[in-house]
Amino acid sequence: MASRLLFIHTGGTLGMVPVGTDGALAPADHFARSMKPYIPGVESLAEIESRSVCNIDSSDMSPDRWVSIGEMIASSVHDFDGFVVLHGTDTMSFTACALSFMLRDLPRPVILTGSQRPLAEPRTDARINLVHSTLCAMMEIPEVGLYFGSRLFRGNRTTKVSLQSYHAFASPNFPPLLEMGVDVKNGAEPLRPRGAFRFRHGFSRDVAVISLFPGCSAAQLSWVIDQGARVVVLRTFGDGNLPREAWPSAVEAATSHGIHVIITSQCRSGTISPGRYEGSRHGFDAGALFGEDMTGEAVVVKSMWLLGQGITGEAFRASFNQPLAGECR
Ligand code: ASP
Repeated sequence: MASRLLFIHTGGTLGMVPVGTDGALAPADHFARSMKPYIPGVESLAEIESRSVCNIDSSDMSPDRWVSIGEMIASSVHDFDGFVVLHGTDTMSFTACALSFMLRDLPRPVILTGSQRPLAEPRTDARINLVHSTLCAMMEIPEVGLYFGSRLFRGNRTTKVSLQSYHAFASPNFPPLLEMGVDVKNGAEPLRPRGAFRFRHGFSRDVAVISLFPGCSAAQLSWVIDQGARVVVLRTFGDGNLPREAWPSAVEAATSHGIHVIITSQCRSGTISPGRYEGSRHGFDAGALFGEDMTGEAVVVKSMWLLGQGITGEAFRASFNQPLAGECR
């Protein structure tokens, strides 16, 4: 019997066309209704139903839309063999994280994909990404994956790394799940459900990110807290290092008031070792948490999700470095 798949359209370059006198790309309606006519042969792989949650440039993605995508999957998780989510590349990794945290013990593959060039262009990468995502959604890979440029990644391990390359995504700290060449090569072991499927939505927006630079004022930290941030992610230098001047005391002032300060690195690849340098030891002593091997996207979305579940204080600290869906070691 043919696999039954649900294609969920959300927008992105894949379904855009040039509009106006300057030819800027914008979402087109006919793609949102169904992609199938533009992907000859895909019907022979699986029985495909298409639905649309939104039709936007993914820079307009929001937590409410993450929940709408999650709801669509959760409400029909047992009606389809797999799901393909068509999404803009700019924030696809954030959505992959959000879906992976909401859809707990997922029994089916949910594959996000998109493209660097619109589907209607002759040199598009959309068609091959869609065909391969369709195949991935038919496999025994019950987790939220992101397929792009010949590789299937664990979605919450990815980050967009290129504006031009057809290999636009990387998974710096976790190997691909599959490599699609002439042959399909297996990579990392996929997740397996360990209990009954649950849908846990709810995201807080009380999360702020500060990217440090030499000379960056530590007053930025108290400013974002005054604006309502309950979690502040610091993109620090190298191995989680803070400047010695002003920053450790600012972090301590924040953590002593119950604000979670999370230290991440501006380097994409590698695992932070807190205390390897004095710069990170100061942060550790000041009560900061560390993003360790998580991507910046995963750190932010996980914080939004934990707060959104009402997980605060010591429970937040205990949960933050525990893997929810394979996003960290
Ligand atoms: N701006 C587009 C988006 O993220 C880029 C893309 O899809 O590749 O929606």
